[in-house]
Amino acid sequence: MKPAPFEYHAPESIADVTTLLGEHGDDAKVLAGGQSLVPLLAMRLTRFPHLVDLNRVEELRGIERENGTLTIKAMTRQAIAEHDDTVAAAAPLLAKALPFIGHFQIRNRGTVGGSIAHADPASELPAVAVALDAEDRRSLRALIRGASEGAPADTRLAGLVPTPTLPERLLRELAERGSIREQGVLLLAAGHPCGPAVLAAASDREPDLFRIELAVARTLAERAVRGSRRAGRFLRDYVAATIDRDNCRTALVLAAIGIEEPTASLFLPGGGLRPEEFERATATRDPVMAARALGAAGATRDVAPILLQHATSPADLERALEDRAVTTVQREARLNPLGPAPVLLFLHRLRQQSIALARLVWGAELGVPPAALAGAVVA
Ligand SMILES: Cc1cc2nc3c(=O)[nH]c(=O)nc-3n(C[C@H](O)[C@H](O)[C@H](O)COP(=O)(O)OP(=O)(O)OC[C@H]3O[C@@H](n4cnc5c(N)ncnc54)[C@H](O)[C@@H]3O)c2cc1C
Repeated sequence: MKPAPFEYHAPESIADVTTLLGEHGDDAKVLAGGQSLVPLLAMRLTRFPHLVDLNRVEELRGIERENGTLTIKAMTRQAIAEHDDTVAAAAPLLAKALPFIGHFQIRNRGTVGGSIAHADPASELPAVAVALDAEDRRSLRALIRGASEGAPADTRLAGLVPTPTLPERLLRELAERGSIREQGVLLLAAGHPCGPAVLAAASDREPDLFRIELAVARTLAERAVRGSRRAGRFLRDYVAATIDRDNCRTALVLAAIGIEEPTASLFLPGGGLRPEEFERATATRDPVMAARALGAAGATRDVAPILLQHATSPADLERALEDRAVTTVQREARLNPLGPAPVLLFLHRLRQQSIALARLVWGAELGVPPAALAGAVVA
């Protein structure tokens, strides 16, 4: 079969691309590597009277790293990003995920922008985007807690995994900031999405750690929901389950501390748990009763035993819920090895390894016997 007739345009600048797209509106489609679009056109599953080829637009190609931010321009071939040292240093997860995309002929033509714009449910790059935000959140929590407790910079850095938006240098600079407010200023200056939220929440005279962490969680949850909207079922469910886990943890903490004000503003939307179920749990003012209330709610019923078992220990609860999430991802990775689950699993393992490595280093420094440290090794 051949594509339906179309007019071919080959602009050489972004200005010409935007003019063409403005002129032809919905009748025009941009062509990047063609790996997804061309088969759709050839099989006549889609048709457009105008194709705007981006391949001659030099301005849309390239990889840059400046002021802690990694920029991969839309028309950069996946194979170029895969072998680029800057990407490997600033975003190790991305570098590890790229070789999983199809085979090398596909990556030689396919572009990073095309893959994200196409947002195929089984594609690697949208999963990486969600996973990297989750990693940012863990790092920010560790750094913010460290600053509030006055822990030394090196301790705060232990086990953190760099990402494109929080590369190693920025992590180190954040660890050196003595207050959460200063960390917020630095995040804002580096253009990190959580900068405004951290700065606003930390500007109170007596910053409340719990609310600052919640502000970070809210920003990243909103991004994850937006990012997974066009992705497949597994990634959407993964994001929703992560948000539900956050809300459960928040509800149990609020029930334990017995807050007077309404708790609706502390609820994160985007999961399966409903705001009224969250408020009902916090209103119990008792973590065990709150765990029962959450367990009765449809979206979190399957984690009811975990909620009850760890109702009075938020740290243990978080670990148990995380283990549960890993088991779910492992199962999905076995069932669907070409989907996004293997990438998420890789990330979980990478983090466990880096935390274990930090434990080994600190253990050796503190003279802990090697036999006691052996348990920290993660293969
Ligand atoms: C045999 C085969 C196996 C594959 N295996 C995998 C795999 O394992 N994992 C995986 O992730 N992917 C896989 N892919 C998809 C591949 O990664 C494509 O590169 C990707 O889906 C689209 O990128 P592209 O540059 O070819 O975009 P195109 O096919 O040119 O465009 C795809 C869509 O994105 C739009 N678009 C492209 N660039 C832009 C832009 N800059 N701005 C706005 N819209 C834009 C186009 O209009 C079009 O709608 C496979 C493809 C093939 C043919």
